Amino acid sequence: MAIFGAIADDFTGATDLAGLLARSGAKVSLRIGVPEGGASDAPFEVVALKIRTAPVAEAVTEALAALDWLKGTGAERFFWKYCSTFDSTADGNIGPVAEALMAALGARQTVYCPAFPENGRSVFMGNLFVGQQPLAESPMKDHPLTPMADSNLMRLLRPQVTQEVGLVDRLTVARGAEALKDALGRAAPHVVVDAVADTDLEVIARAGRDMALMTGGSALAMPLPALYREAGLLDDGRSAAQVPQVGPGAVVLSGSCSAMTRAQVAAYGGPSFRFDPLMLARDGYGEALDWLSGQDMEKAPMIYATAEPEQVRAAQAELGVDHAGAVVEEALAALAIAAREMGARRFVVAGGETSGAVTKALGVSRLDVGREIAPGVPWCGCVSGGQEIALALKSGNFGAESFFADALGMLG
Ligand code: ADP
Repeated sequence: MAIFGAIADDFTGATDLAGLLARSGAKVSLRIGVPEGGASDAPFEVVALKIRTAPVAEAVTEALAALDWLKGTGAERFFWKYCSTFDSTADGNIGPVAEALMAALGARQTVYCPAFPENGRSVFMGNLFVGQQPLAESPMKDHPLTPMADSNLMRLLRPQVTQEVGLVDRLTVARGAEALKDALGRAAPHVVVDAVADTDLEVIARAGRDMALMTGGSALAMPLPALYREAGLLDDGRSAAQVPQVGPGAVVLSGSCSAMTRAQVAAYGGPSFRFDPLMLARDGYGEALDWLSGQDMEKAPMIYATAEPEQVRAAQAELGVDHAGAVVEEALAALAIAAREMGARRFVVAGGETSGAVTKALGVSRLDVGREIAPGVPWCGCVSGGQEIALALKSGNFGAESFFADALGMLG
């Protein structure tokens, strides 16, 4: 039976949250999309949706369906997880989903705190900073889907909700959980709360521990398992989810072109095969499949489309952005299935969208979250095609240069 249910607005955001919760040693289960029913054997359940930029009505409907399922697992405390850069448009979806969840739960109030100090995201006087830059001066100002033109969270939230928006600032948070609880008692239904350090997040999590709904980035949820244990709500005896020992076959699949992934691909010492969208659009992935068939899966071969920005732009100019991405994702998804048939049981996947495509192809609907390889990237156990496998799903800039070898070395 679950005690805590989280709804994440995208896939790697859900993995990030699940990984931070699992740091406590508690069992964390991650569902891809709203499950069709079924019970839970984990105290922490995270449902990954893909609603960050969906139309508002669709996002609300999906989030409410996830909430219904989570309620059915026994969970009584809920969390709405969005990006630590508050990625949203003028319409939503952070505010509308929060308001719908509050209404469904009969909650008078919720808190908003995207701070993630470990990753340089902090909130002060209601303004969100990325490192030393205000959000609206950070690279997020140029994001293709959710450009952030304001750094003030109250101003960003107000047009997204119907009820009043307020702030409890760092000066109150610094006085501790009781002072914060008092201040929340007098505050508006939608309250932005400042946090510049992990200790602030602990204060907020403690003050909000019994709220029906909290909202924020993944870091705000991190202190909750310890607080639940302290309150006697979690008696799991630190039964850390064990990623199964799944056999030696492995494969690395990379469709991310971010700077850190490029360094990781370059640093990988195993056998590798590179394809690009132009080649895939022209000839399909047969050559890659032939190459893979000749590999020893115990040596963890890598197939990658990872390329420098100018090569990506050239492929996109020729094929269009969507088609260039789609041919790579389809090929890596098909090669993941082929690799499983050839004996791969450990899959290291680089790229958020790529991870979604590979997981879908492997028919995975539930992941048991295990040990973290790097902050925000855990090994996960799951079943695919009747086989127990392990998946490491890494979004673009996560992990150190040696990430692929680090991951494979942890699950030998
Ligand atoms: P990240 O987490 O780094 O953003 P994603 O997998 O989410 O990585 O996104 C990368 C996108 O780029 C995917 O859609 C992928 O198919 C596409 N892609 C990968 N390699 C290339 C390439 N060489 N040219 C063009 N697009 C590419």
